[in-house]
Amino acid sequence: MIVQNIRIVKERIAEAAQKAGRQPENIKLVAVSKHFPADSIREAVDAGQNIFGENYIQEVQAKRGLVPAEAVFHFIGHLQSNKAKIAAETCGMLETLDSYKLGVTLNSQLENLKKNLDILIQVNIGNDPRKTGVAADEVEALLIKINELTRLRVCGLMTMPPLATDPEQSRPHFRNLRILSEKFAAKNLFPHVATPELSMGMSDDFHIAIEEGSTIVRIGTAIFGHRP
Ligand SMILES: *Cc1c(COP(=O)(O)O)cnc(C)c1O
Repeated sequence: MIVQNIRIVKERIAEAAQKAGRQPENIKLVAVSKHFPADSIREAVDAGQNIFGENYIQEVQAKRGLVPAEAVFHFIGHLQSNKAKIAAETCGMLETLDSYKLGVTLNSQLENLKKNLDILIQVNIGNDPRKTGVAADEVEALLIKINELTRLRVCGLMTMPPLATDPEQSRPHFRNLRILSEKFAAKNLFPHVATPELSMGMSDDFHIAIEEGSTIVRIGTAIFGHRP
């Protein structure tokens, strides 16, 4: 079932890209495997999927040794500073950096490991009190400071819009994130990348996110089914 779902999701990504006049290969699929066992990840790897999203660092830690080395984990949950070391050791990208303090802790852990980490800044684009992330008007100041931390490679922005009943309600938020990222790119605030990443879009709204410029979609339910 996972294999077939990945194929369907990839077809839908290609369709949305085509509709927007974009190349499907410019959109990365993160299969959100939170709460699913390592077996599910192995099945997805066998189907050619290699990026996985996890919200809980203990889950990454538990699964890391049980899945093939080509599986890369993107951390998409709220990371506590005391878990920064594990994230630095086990994750290929942290999509949810939301404070300078966390950046400093992560940077020193990475320094010990002599390794760099790709990160995205999580933006609370809809000013939703129930969502974590940096307010849109505070991102620029944070970016400037984070760019001084030599082990962090800021690659772009990530967001989760407020809960919506109709996926069309997310469109203006996706658009606003893209406008924000274009503004920062013009100011050279993403010095490590030619094109900044925009991680936006989940199972219910990824087609709209792609039309609005998403380069990373994070899809759980449509691939693995409803979470246990
Ligand atoms: C769980 C989660 C997803 C996946 O959501 P689905 O609706 O199952 O596709 C994506 N992004 C984040 C940050 C999540 O926590």
